[in-house]
Amino acid sequence: MSTPPAIRIDNLVKEYASPGPGEPPKLALKGVSFDVPQGGIFGLLGPNGAGKSTLINILAGLVTKTEGSAEIWGFDIGENPRNAKRSIGIVPQEIVFDPFFTPFEVLENQGGFYGIPKSERRSEELLRAVHLWDKRDAYARTLSGGMKRRLLIAKAMVHSPPILVLDEPTAGVDVELRRQLWELVNELNAEGVTVVLTTHYLEEAEQLCDRIAIINHGELIAEKPTRELVGMAREKVVAVTVDKDLGGPIMEEAFVRAEVVQPRKLEITYDRDKASAGQVLSIVQSHGYAIEDVTTREADLEDVFVQLTGSG
Ligand code: ADP
Ligand code: MG
Repeated sequence: MSTPPAIRIDNLVKEYASPGPGEPPKLALKGVSFDVPQGGIFGLLGPNGAGKSTLINILAGLVTKTEGSAEIWGFDIGENPRNAKRSIGIVPQEIVFDPFFTPFEVLENQGGFYGIPKSERRSEELLRAVHLWDKRDAYARTLSGGMKRRLLIAKAMVHSPPILVLDEPTAGVDVELRRQLWELVNELNAEGVTVVLTTHYLEEAEQLCDRIAIINHGELIAEKPTRELVGMAREKVVAVTVDKDLGGPIMEEAFVRAEVVQPRKLEITYDRDKASAGQVLSIVQSHGYAIEDVTTREADLEDVFVQLTGSG
């Protein structure tokens, strides 16, 4: 018997009403379906405007779906919204706080909101987990941007949901804070929390997520384990330095692209299903050049993304 998914999304459609007279309604999700398995870190990847927040906000109960259905931990968001909401903690894209509460009060209030008795609240444990215990009595308005984000993560975990969703957790944050947030996500995941995060950073999805769904213009264009997705990049790039100035690019049928990047350096993109690096080099030699240096670049998620979305 297979484990049921943490989240099941089935043909989700969202049409936002026309923003004004003469303006068309916006179809933000065009029938998206995928499952988020339990226990992993799942990345919802796509450029700005792809529909990521719309999808997350439907799960959060903040946006009403137009069509389709979604289940969270087995609870249908339409039929059983209370249990669905109890099964998920959501960190929204926008940071909003009452500036006059302290981190400790923020968590206690949230615990009260979920009806958790005082003796069962986890405020201290959660503040320690997000490294904010020493800031427990500071006003939220005095916290740095990074501290606020960490506090929002703690707040999302107050009711101990099995799923944590982070909408663009690292958009606009510096390198150090990004590293801290990744660490925190990994720690929570290691404790058994299924994590879903949206991002428009390919590198982030590749580093952090074991499974990735790519959406673009409201449509799902891929949904696979990260390794498989990266493996889909068929194109490889080899940079060749030769012994004399190049007269012009050497274009051959076996190449996808060839570009002279320096007087003696040629960058050749080839399809790894159709040619090998060895063949590429012998073609260059057959044009009368001796090869002095070669570097190859491994395909990464960016290559796949460009191939799939057709965006340069
Ligand atoms: P993402 O989070 O991937 O950047 P969004 O879900 O925020 O994308 O937006 C998807 C599309 O829906 C965009 O074209 C956006 O302009 C539009 N959109 C988002 N929210 C609204 C809204 N409240 N009313 C009308 N259009 C919206
Ligand atoms: Mg968004």
